[in-house]
Amino acid sequence: MSDKNLYVTQPFLPPLPEFLPYLEEIWSSKVLTNGGPFHVRLEKALCEYLGVEHLALFTNGTIALLTALQALRITGEVITTPYSFVATSHSLLWNGIKPVFVDIHPGTLNLDPAKIEAAITPQTTAIMPVHCYGHPCDVDAIQKIADNYNLKVIYDAAHAFGVTTKTGSVLNYGDLSVLSFHATKVFNTFEGGAIVCPDAKTKQRIDHLKNFGFVDEVTVVAPGINGKMSEFNSALGLLQLGHIEKALLRRQEIDAFYRKHLSSVKGIHCLNDSGEIIANFSYFPILIGEEYPMDRDSLYEKLKANGIYARRYFYPLISSFPMYRSLPSAHSSNLPVATDAALRVLCLPIYPDLKPDEQLSIIDLIQRG
Ligand SMILES: *Cc1c(COP(=O)(O)O)cnc(C)c1O
Repeated sequence: MSDKNLYVTQPFLPPLPEFLPYLEEIWSSKVLTNGGPFHVRLEKALCEYLGVEHLALFTNGTIALLTALQALRITGEVITTPYSFVATSHSLLWNGIKPVFVDIHPGTLNLDPAKIEAAITPQTTAIMPVHCYGHPCDVDAIQKIADNYNLKVIYDAAHAFGVTTKTGSVLNYGDLSVLSFHATKVFNTFEGGAIVCPDAKTKQRIDHLKNFGFVDEVTVVAPGINGKMSEFNSALGLLQLGHIEKALLRRQEIDAFYRKHLSSVKGIHCLNDSGEIIANFSYFPILIGEEYPMDRDSLYEKLKANGIYARRYFYPLISSFPMYRSLPSAHSSNLPVATDAALRVLCLPIYPDLKPDEQLSIIDLIQRG
Protein backbone atom coordinates (compact mmCIF):
# COMPACT_ATOMS: atom_id res chain seq x y z
CA MET A 1 0.00 0.00 0.00
CA SER A 2 1.32 3.40 -0.97
CA ASP A 3 1.86 5.82 1.91
CA LYS A 4 1.35 8.98 -0.13
CA ASN A 5 -1.91 10.52 -1.24
CA LEU A 6 -2.96 9.82 -4.81
CA TYR A 7 -4.99 12.37 -6.72
CA VAL A 8 -7.12 11.90 -9.80
CA THR A 9 -4.50 13.71 -11.81
CA GLN A 10 -1.00 15.02 -11.38
CA PRO A 11 0.42 17.56 -13.79
CA PHE A 12 2.92 16.13 -16.24
CA LEU A 13 6.20 18.06 -16.08
CA PRO A 14 9.18 17.36 -18.37
CA PRO A 15 12.64 17.54 -16.70
CA LEU A 16 13.33 21.10 -15.48
CA PRO A 17 16.80 21.46 -17.07
CA GLU A 18 15.15 21.11 -20.49
CA PHE A 19 13.19 24.28 -19.81
CA LEU A 20 16.22 26.44 -19.04
CA PRO A 21 17.26 27.16 -22.65
CA TYR A 22 13.72 28.39 -23.35
CA LEU A 23 13.90 30.73 -20.37
CA GLU A 24 17.30 32.03 -21.48
CA GLU A 25 15.87 32.82 -24.90
CA ILE A 26 12.96 34.75 -23.36
CA TRP A 27 15.29 36.62 -21.00
CA SER A 28 17.68 37.64 -23.77
CA SER A 29 15.00 38.65 -26.29
CA LYS A 30 12.88 40.40 -23.62
CA VAL A 31 9.81 39.50 -25.67
CA LEU A 32 7.37 38.33 -23.01
CA THR A 33 4.01 38.26 -24.80
CA ASN A 34 1.91 39.76 -27.67
CA GLY A 35 2.41 37.00 -30.20
CA GLY A 36 6.18 36.56 -29.76
CA PRO A 37 8.34 33.82 -31.30
CA PHE A 38 7.32 31.02 -28.91
CA HIS A 39 3.64 31.83 -29.43
CA VAL A 40 4.13 31.58 -33.20
CA ARG A 41 6.13 28.35 -32.89
CA LEU A 42 3.61 26.69 -30.56
CA GLU A 43 0.65 27.51 -32.81
CA LYS A 44 2.46 25.95 -35.76
CA ALA A 45 3.66 22.91 -33.81
CA LEU A 46 0.19 22.25 -32.38
CA CYS A 47 -1.46 22.50 -35.81
CA GLU A 48 0.97 19.88 -37.08
CA TYR A 49 0.65 17.61 -34.07
CA LEU A 50 -3.14 17.80 -33.87
CA GLY A 51 -3.79 17.64 -37.60
CA VAL A 52 -5.69 20.93 -37.81
CA GLU A 53 -5.28 23.86 -40.19
CA HIS A 54 -5.62 26.88 -37.90
CA LEU A 55 -5.44 27.42 -34.19
CA ALA A 56 -5.32 30.50 -31.95
CA LEU A 57 -3.64 30.18 -28.53
CA PHE A 58 -5.34 31.61 -25.46
CA THR A 59 -4.54 32.42 -21.87
CA ASN A 60 -6.97 29.69 -20.75
CA GLY A 61 -9.81 27.56 -22.04
CA THR A 62 -12.57 29.63 -20.47
CA ILE A 63 -11.51 32.87 -22.17
CA ALA A 64 -11.24 30.86 -25.38
CA LEU A 65 -14.86 29.67 -24.94
CA LEU A 66 -16.03 33.25 -24.31
CA THR A 67 -14.19 34.45 -27.39
CA ALA A 68 -15.44 31.60 -29.60
CA LEU A 69 -19.04 32.66 -28.83
CA GLN A 70 -18.15 36.30 -29.58
CA ALA A 71 -16.37 35.40 -32.81
CA LEU A 72 -19.51 33.71 -34.18
CA ARG A 73 -21.80 36.42 -32.71
CA ILE A 74 -23.87 33.81 -30.87
CA THR A 75 -26.96 35.21 -29.10
CA GLY A 76 -30.30 34.01 -27.74
CA GLU A 77 -30.34 30.35 -26.66
CA VAL A 78 -27.65 27.72 -26.94
CA ILE A 79 -28.23 23.99 -26.45
CA THR A 80 -25.65 22.41 -24.18
CA THR A 81 -24.95 19.55 -21.77
CA PRO A 82 -25.41 19.70 -18.00
CA TYR A 83 -22.75 16.99 -17.63
CA SER A 84 -19.53 19.01 -17.84
CA PHE A 85 -17.29 21.41 -15.99
CA VAL A 86 -19.12 24.66 -15.11
CA ALA A 87 -17.01 26.72 -17.53
CA THR A 88 -19.05 25.33 -20.44
CA SER A 89 -22.29 26.98 -19.32
CA HIS A 90 -20.63 29.92 -17.60
CA SER A 91 -19.24 30.99 -20.99
CA LEU A 92 -22.84 31.28 -22.19
CA LEU A 93 -24.01 33.36 -19.20
CA TRP A 94 -20.99 35.68 -19.57
CA ASN A 95 -22.17 36.34 -23.13
CA GLY A 96 -25.76 37.01 -22.05
CA ILE A 97 -26.86 33.74 -23.69
CA LYS A 98 -29.48 31.44 -22.19
CA PRO A 99 -28.24 27.85 -21.78
CA VAL A 100 -30.77 25.18 -22.69
CA PHE A 101 -29.83 21.84 -21.15
CA VAL A 102 -30.37 18.63 -23.09
CA ASP A 103 -29.83 15.17 -21.63
CA ILE A 104 -26.85 12.94 -22.37
CA HIS A 105 -26.54 9.51 -23.95
CA PRO A 106 -26.19 6.71 -21.38
CA GLY A 107 -23.40 4.97 -23.32
CA THR A 108 -21.05 7.91 -23.82
CA LEU A 109 -22.35 10.56 -21.40
CA ASN A 110 -22.12 13.02 -24.31
CA LEU A 111 -25.01 15.25 -25.46
CA ASP A 112 -27.69 12.95 -26.92
CA PRO A 113 -28.40 14.03 -30.52
CA ALA A 114 -31.81 12.32 -30.40
CA LYS A 115 -32.93 14.84 -27.77
CA ILE A 116 -31.60 18.03 -29.35
CA GLU A 117 -34.38 18.80 -31.84
CA ALA A 118 -37.10 18.97 -29.19
CA ALA A 119 -35.14 21.73 -27.41
CA ILE A 120 -34.77 24.00 -30.45
CA THR A 121 -36.80 27.24 -30.39
CA PRO A 122 -36.80 30.30 -32.69
CA GLN A 123 -34.20 31.80 -30.31
CA THR A 124 -31.74 28.92 -30.68
CA THR A 125 -28.56 29.96 -32.49
CA ALA A 126 -26.02 27.28 -31.62
CA ILE A 127 -25.20 23.94 -30.01
CA MET A 128 -22.32 23.65 -27.53
CA PRO A 129 -21.52 19.97 -26.91
CA VAL A 130 -18.58 18.60 -24.91
CA HIS A 131 -16.40 15.65 -25.94
CA CYS A 132 -16.76 14.32 -22.41
CA TYR A 133 -13.63 12.53 -21.10
CA GLY A 134 -12.22 12.97 -24.62
CA HIS A 135 -14.75 10.56 -26.10
CA PRO A 136 -15.97 12.04 -29.42
CA CYS A 137 -19.56 13.25 -29.62
CA ASP A 138 -21.77 11.91 -32.40
CA VAL A 139 -20.42 14.70 -34.59
CA ASP A 140 -22.28 13.66 -37.75
CA ALA A 141 -25.70 13.56 -36.10
CA ILE A 142 -25.06 16.91 -34.40
CA GLN A 143 -23.91 18.52 -37.66
CA LYS A 144 -26.99 17.24 -39.47
CA ILE A 145 -29.29 18.91 -36.94
CA ALA A 146 -27.20 22.09 -37.07
CA ASP A 147 -27.44 22.17 -40.86
CA ASN A 148 -31.20 21.56 -40.86
CA TYR A 149 -31.86 24.38 -38.39
CA ASN A 150 -29.02 26.68 -39.46
CA LEU A 151 -27.26 26.53 -36.09
CA LYS A 152 -23.57 26.98 -35.28
CA VAL A 153 -21.71 24.25 -33.41
CA ILE A 154 -19.00 25.11 -30.89
CA TYR A 155 -17.35 22.11 -29.29
CA ASP A 156 -15.97 22.38 -25.79
CA ALA A 157 -13.03 20.11 -26.62
CA ALA A 158 -11.20 20.72 -23.33
CA HIS A 159 -10.85 16.95 -22.86
CA ALA A 160 -10.16 16.06 -26.47
CA PHE A 161 -6.52 17.00 -27.09
CA GLY A 162 -5.15 14.70 -29.81
CA VAL A 163 -8.29 12.60 -30.12
CA THR A 164 -8.56 11.19 -33.64
CA THR A 165 -11.17 9.10 -35.44
CA LYS A 166 -11.13 7.38 -38.84
CA THR A 167 -11.77 10.75 -40.45
CA GLY A 168 -8.97 12.62 -38.65
CA SER A 169 -8.84 14.97 -35.68
CA VAL A 170 -12.10 15.32 -33.81
CA LEU A 171 -11.17 19.00 -33.46
CA ASN A 172 -12.04 19.61 -37.11
CA TYR A 173 -15.78 19.20 -36.51
CA GLY A 174 -18.24 21.98 -35.87
CA ASP A 175 -17.62 25.66 -36.53
CA LEU A 176 -15.04 26.00 -33.74
CA SER A 177 -13.46 23.73 -31.13
CA VAL A 178 -12.03 24.97 -27.85
CA LEU A 179 -9.12 23.33 -26.02
CA SER A 180 -7.88 23.78 -22.46
CA PHE A 181 -4.23 23.45 -21.49
CA HIS A 182 -4.89 23.79 -17.77
CA ALA A 183 -2.48 22.04 -15.39
CA THR A 184 -4.96 19.16 -14.93
CA LYS A 185 -5.30 18.38 -18.62
CA VAL A 186 -3.43 15.82 -20.78
CA PHE A 187 -1.36 18.59 -22.39
CA ASN A 188 -0.70 21.59 -20.17
CA THR A 189 0.94 25.00 -20.33
CA PHE A 190 0.18 25.58 -16.58
CA GLU A 191 -2.75 27.73 -17.77
CA GLY A 192 -3.71 27.95 -21.42
CA GLY A 193 -6.13 27.10 -24.15
CA ALA A 194 -6.83 27.43 -27.86
CA ILE A 195 -9.54 27.79 -30.47
CA VAL A 196 -9.30 25.51 -33.48
CA CYS A 197 -10.81 27.23 -36.50
CA PRO A 198 -11.47 26.15 -40.07
CA ASP A 199 -10.00 29.03 -42.08
CA ALA A 200 -7.47 31.86 -41.95
CA LYS A 201 -10.15 34.56 -41.94
CA THR A 202 -11.81 33.17 -38.82
CA LYS A 203 -8.44 32.84 -37.10
CA GLN A 204 -7.67 36.46 -37.93
CA ARG A 205 -10.93 37.62 -36.37
CA ILE A 206 -10.22 35.53 -33.27
CA ASP A 207 -6.66 36.91 -33.10
CA HIS A 208 -8.11 40.44 -33.12
CA LEU A 209 -10.65 39.56 -30.45
CA LYS A 210 -8.01 38.11 -28.11
CA ASN A 211 -5.99 41.33 -28.43
CA PHE A 212 -8.65 43.89 -27.34
CA GLY A 213 -9.97 44.12 -30.91
CA PHE A 214 -6.81 45.80 -32.24
CA VAL A 215 -6.04 45.22 -35.91
CA ASP A 216 -3.20 47.73 -35.99
CA GLU A 217 -1.75 50.45 -33.75
CA VAL A 218 -4.69 52.80 -34.15
CA THR A 219 -7.64 50.64 -35.20
CA VAL A 220 -9.97 48.76 -32.85
CA VAL A 221 -12.70 46.81 -34.62
CA ALA A 222 -14.45 44.96 -31.78
CA PRO A 223 -14.82 45.02 -27.99
CA GLY A 224 -12.11 42.40 -27.63
CA ILE A 225 -10.56 40.94 -24.53
CA ASN A 226 -7.05 40.15 -23.36
CA GLY A 227 -6.81 36.45 -24.17
CA LYS A 228 -3.19 36.22 -25.32
CA MET A 229 -0.96 33.37 -24.21
CA SER A 230 2.39 34.59 -22.86
CA GLU A 231 5.82 33.53 -24.13
CA PHE A 232 6.45 31.66 -20.87
CA ASN A 233 3.34 29.50 -21.30
CA SER A 234 3.99 29.04 -25.02
CA ALA A 235 7.53 27.81 -24.28
CA LEU A 236 6.13 25.38 -21.71
CA GLY A 237 3.83 24.05 -24.41
CA LEU A 238 6.69 23.47 -26.86
CA LEU A 239 8.63 21.63 -24.17
CA GLN A 240 5.62 19.54 -23.24
CA LEU A 241 4.85 18.68 -26.85
CA GLY A 242 8.23 16.94 -27.09
CA HIS A 243 7.09 14.51 -24.38
CA ILE A 244 3.42 14.08 -25.20
CA GLU A 245 3.70 10.75 -27.06
CA LYS A 246 5.48 9.12 -24.13
CA ALA A 247 2.92 10.55 -21.69
CA LEU A 248 0.00 9.28 -23.78
CA LEU A 249 1.50 5.79 -24.02
CA ARG A 250 1.81 5.60 -20.25
CA ARG A 251 -1.81 6.75 -19.88
CA GLN A 252 -2.87 4.06 -22.34
CA GLU A 253 -1.14 1.38 -20.22
CA ILE A 254 -2.87 2.62 -17.08
CA ASP A 255 -6.24 2.63 -18.87
CA ALA A 256 -5.72 -0.94 -20.13
CA PHE A 257 -4.65 -2.16 -16.68
CA TYR A 258 -7.75 -0.69 -15.00
CA ARG A 259 -9.99 -2.24 -17.66
CA LYS A 260 -8.34 -5.63 -17.32
CA HIS A 261 -8.87 -5.77 -13.56
CA LEU A 262 -12.09 -3.80 -13.06
CA SER A 263 -14.29 -4.89 -16.00
CA SER A 264 -15.07 -8.18 -14.27
CA VAL A 265 -15.97 -6.60 -10.91
CA LYS A 266 -19.73 -6.93 -10.39
CA GLY A 267 -21.39 -3.52 -10.43
CA ILE A 268 -18.40 -1.65 -11.88
CA HIS A 269 -18.82 -0.38 -15.42
CA CYS A 270 -15.76 1.04 -17.20
CA LEU A 271 -16.82 3.68 -19.73
CA ASN A 272 -15.73 4.30 -23.29
CA ASP A 273 -13.40 1.57 -24.43
CA SER A 274 -11.58 3.55 -27.12
CA GLY A 275 -12.08 0.92 -29.88
CA GLU A 276 -11.12 2.43 -33.24
CA ILE A 277 -10.59 5.88 -31.82
CA ILE A 278 -7.10 7.18 -31.12
CA ALA A 279 -7.94 8.24 -27.57
CA ASN A 280 -5.98 10.39 -25.11
CA PHE A 281 -6.88 8.47 -21.93
CA SER A 282 -7.42 11.77 -20.16
CA TYR A 283 -9.81 10.34 -17.54
CA PHE A 284 -10.76 6.92 -16.23
CA PRO A 285 -14.47 7.14 -15.35
CA ILE A 286 -16.31 4.19 -13.83
CA LEU A 287 -20.03 3.93 -13.07
CA ILE A 288 -21.03 2.23 -9.83
CA GLY A 289 -24.11 0.05 -10.34
CA GLU A 290 -26.70 -1.52 -8.03
CA GLU A 291 -24.82 -4.84 -7.86
CA TYR A 292 -21.76 -3.26 -6.29
CA PRO A 293 -21.69 -3.77 -2.48
CA MET A 294 -21.67 -0.02 -1.75
CA ASP A 295 -22.88 3.15 -3.41
CA ARG A 296 -20.67 5.68 -5.19
CA ASP A 297 -20.26 8.04 -2.25
CA SER A 298 -19.32 5.19 0.10
CA LEU A 299 -16.65 4.01 -2.36
CA TYR A 300 -15.46 7.60 -2.76
CA GLU A 301 -15.12 7.91 1.04
CA LYS A 302 -13.45 4.53 1.35
CA LEU A 303 -10.84 5.43 -1.26
CA LYS A 304 -10.31 8.79 0.41
CA ALA A 305 -9.75 7.13 3.79
CA ASN A 306 -6.95 5.21 2.05
CA GLY A 307 -5.36 8.36 0.59
CA ILE A 308 -6.89 7.97 -2.87
CA TYR A 309 -8.65 11.12 -3.99
CA ALA A 310 -10.92 9.96 -6.81
CA ARG A 311 -13.22 12.68 -8.18
CA ARG A 312 -16.94 12.74 -8.75
CA TYR A 313 -16.71 14.18 -12.26
CA PHE A 314 -19.35 15.43 -13.02
CA TYR A 315 -21.25 15.92 -9.82
CA PRO A 316 -23.14 18.09 -9.08
CA LEU A 317 -24.55 18.68 -12.56
CA ILE A 318 -24.06 22.21 -13.91
CA SER A 319 -27.85 22.51 -14.10
CA SER A 320 -28.15 22.16 -10.32
CA PHE A 321 -25.99 25.19 -9.46
CA PRO A 322 -27.92 28.27 -8.26
CA MET A 323 -27.42 30.36 -11.42
CA TYR A 324 -28.93 27.58 -13.58
CA ARG A 325 -31.39 25.58 -11.52
CA SER A 326 -34.42 27.80 -12.14
CA LEU A 327 -34.19 27.29 -15.92
CA PRO A 328 -37.00 25.02 -17.15
CA SER A 329 -34.46 22.80 -18.93
CA ALA A 330 -32.47 22.36 -15.69
CA HIS A 331 -35.16 20.23 -14.03
CA SER A 332 -33.99 16.70 -13.28
CA SER A 333 -37.07 15.28 -15.05
CA ASN A 334 -35.61 16.75 -18.27
CA LEU A 335 -32.20 15.22 -17.51
CA PRO A 336 -32.75 11.69 -16.17
CA VAL A 337 -29.60 10.13 -17.69
CA ALA A 338 -27.31 12.94 -16.55
CA THR A 339 -28.91 12.96 -13.10
CA ASP A 340 -28.29 9.22 -12.74
CA ALA A 341 -24.71 9.35 -14.10
CA ALA A 342 -23.80 12.18 -11.72
CA LEU A 343 -24.77 9.93 -8.79
CA ARG A 344 -22.86 6.89 -10.04
CA VAL A 345 -19.67 8.20 -11.62
CA LEU A 346 -16.19 8.18 -10.15
CA CYS A 347 -13.02 9.18 -12.00
CA LEU A 348 -9.97 7.22 -10.90
CA PRO A 349 -6.38 8.48 -10.78
CA ILE A 350 -4.73 8.41 -14.22
CA TYR A 351 -1.51 10.28 -15.04
CA PRO A 352 1.90 9.33 -16.45
CA ASP A 353 3.66 9.20 -13.07
CA LEU A 354 1.12 6.86 -11.43
CA LYS A 355 3.18 3.84 -10.27
CA PRO A 356 2.06 0.26 -11.01
CA ASP A 357 1.94 -0.62 -7.29
CA GLU A 358 -0.16 2.48 -6.61
CA GLN A 359 -2.59 1.49 -9.33
CA LEU A 360 -2.74 -2.05 -7.94
CA SER A 361 -3.68 -0.74 -4.52
CA ILE A 362 -6.53 1.31 -6.04
CA ILE A 363 -7.77 -1.74 -7.96
CA ASP A 364 -7.50 -3.92 -4.86
CA LEU A 365 -9.64 -1.55 -2.78
CA ILE A 366 -12.33 -1.45 -5.46
CA GLN A 367 -12.28 -5.23 -5.98
CA ARG A 368 -12.70 -5.89 -2.27
CA GLY A 369 -15.80 -3.67 -2.24
C1 LIG B 1 -10.93 22.40 -17.99
C2 LIG B 1 -12.22 22.63 -18.67
C3 LIG B 1 -12.63 23.90 -19.09
C4 LIG B 1 -11.93 25.17 -18.69
O1 LIG B 1 -10.65 25.30 -19.12
P1 LIG B 1 -9.66 26.30 -18.35
O2 LIG B 1 -8.43 26.24 -19.23
O3 LIG B 1 -9.42 25.74 -16.99
O4 LIG B 1 -10.28 27.64 -18.33
C5 LIG B 1 -13.79 24.02 -19.83
N1 LIG B 1 -14.55 22.95 -20.11
C6 LIG B 1 -14.21 21.70 -19.71
C7 LIG B 1 -15.08 20.55 -20.07
C8 LIG B 1 -13.05 21.51 -18.94
O5 LIG B 1 -12.74 20.29 -18.50
